[in-house]
Amino acid sequence: MLTDPSRRSFLQASLGLAAAASLAAPSLMARPLRTNVRILILGAGAGGLSIASRLARQLEGASISLVGARQNHYYQPGYTMIASGLWRPGKVVSQTQDWLPRGVDWINQDALSLDPDAQQVGLANGQLLSYDLLIVATGCQLNYQDLEGMSPELIGQHGIGSVYASPEAAAITSQMIDDYRDQGGRAIFTLTHTPLKCAGAPIKMTFTTLSRLEATGQRQRYQVDFFSPNDNRVFGVPFYNDFVLQRFAEQQVGMFHQHRLTGIDAPSKTAYFRTSDGSTSSQSYDFIHVVPPMSAPDLIRQSPLAWQQGGMAGQWLEVDQYSLQHLRYPNVFGIGDVNGIPFGKTAASVKLQVPTVEQNILAYLQQQELPAKYNGYTSCPLITGIGKAMLAEFGYGAELLPSFSFIDPKEESWAVWIMKEKMLQPAYYAMLRGHI
Ligand SMILES: Cc1cc2nc3c(=O)[nH]c(=O)nc-3n(C[C@H](O)[C@H](O)[C@H](O)COP(=O)(O)OP(=O)(O)OC[C@H]3O[C@@H](n4cnc5c(N)ncnc54)[C@H](O)[C@@H]3O)c2cc1C
Repeated sequence: MLTDPSRRSFLQASLGLAAAASLAAPSLMARPLRTNVRILILGAGAGGLSIASRLARQLEGASISLVGARQNHYYQPGYTMIASGLWRPGKVVSQTQDWLPRGVDWINQDALSLDPDAQQVGLANGQLLSYDLLIVATGCQLNYQDLEGMSPELIGQHGIGSVYASPEAAAITSQMIDDYRDQGGRAIFTLTHTPLKCAGAPIKMTFTTLSRLEATGQRQRYQVDFFSPNDNRVFGVPFYNDFVLQRFAEQQVGMFHQHRLTGIDAPSKTAYFRTSDGSTSSQSYDFIHVVPPMSAPDLIRQSPLAWQQGGMAGQWLEVDQYSLQHLRYPNVFGIGDVNGIPFGKTAASVKLQVPTVEQNILAYLQQQELPAKYNGYTSCPLITGIGKAMLAEFGYGAELLPSFSFIDPKEESWAVWIMKEKMLQPAYYAMLRGHI
């Protein structure tokens, strides 16, 4: 049984099964809603572009502005393919301009300040913008600076790799892995203690590196260790966690639990970890894959829009995990990585969050109850080696949410690898246009 039609459409498009007609976004209203509402969307990434495309179709007379300085658009799910030596960086780069929907004003500046009480956003050039409705889609901030001695500039030096910072950082990470493969020694893979976008990426990097090392026929030349800040946990869904831990054991990956990366001394190739008893453990390496702590951008975490209490206080956007509406400012909605909710930091999550926010905004503008609920859907092909992957799809409560009867979510397959390598990128671009 195919379970959820909206979820299915993303994967169907990626599988090339969807006919062109079925790729058209479902029209929620027979006719566009007439309104003079002023909508500001912060962040012209996956979520921002996608919701802009949909609202531009649904509303007539509204002023819709998309705020974001970045000229390039990056297809981030391709970064692991670059860092695994399989794609060139140019494959994931396009122009923001190319994805802008008609009728949406692109304000080519970053937001620097946010006053939700005054309903105003301050731009880098000093301009103040007023809004009636705000959509926050600013993604994640990579906090390399929270690791003592570490900065993104070090990626590509002293055996340091990190897939996250940019397509170029991913490419140089691949080069670092090549150098390590040539020289041998010890590789360290890390995981951060914060929520992170694509929680599978640290694991994917470990598995594709193992494939590259095993291909030399001299696996004994390499000591590969994985450091997790958690207790016996490297992934939030028990089935995949157990699978990965078992596979690490089979592939002779040394597992260090309760080791949180706190710093790096790059010249001496030493990493520092805080252990469960509060002591510091120093570990030398020849290659290290650094996963930075992540948070919402400072703009959000230093604003009243951030969670005020609990584990996400001052770190992530406070929204209701189902409606994605702000819990204290009803004219604010959140999409994507910035949201302080359990799960939901993948492009596939954005695919489900965008129609949720779209429907809820249409209802909000008509003073109706918000009808749509996001179920936490999160998905990524969990790469388990070059040429194989499992389609991990899950939601709130770590419930598995498989989309297809013919893809076993608990089995590795070449078909899921092909989906990752060839089919998800066109589906992602269709999402930016609001087509799926
Ligand atoms: C290595 C890696 C592998 C991944 N693999 C997968 C995968 O296999 N499958 C999957 O589904 N997802 C994957 N993802 C996750 C996916 O890329 C993100 O979840 C998705 O891009 C989130 O969309 P977003 O709109 O929230 O953020 P983004 O797409 O990052 O966009 C945020 C935008 O906000 C802008 N911005 C930030 N601050 C401001 C400001 N102050 N003012 C204005 N604009 C601002 C940024 O410049 C950016 O343009 C991966 C990510 C990485 C890094």
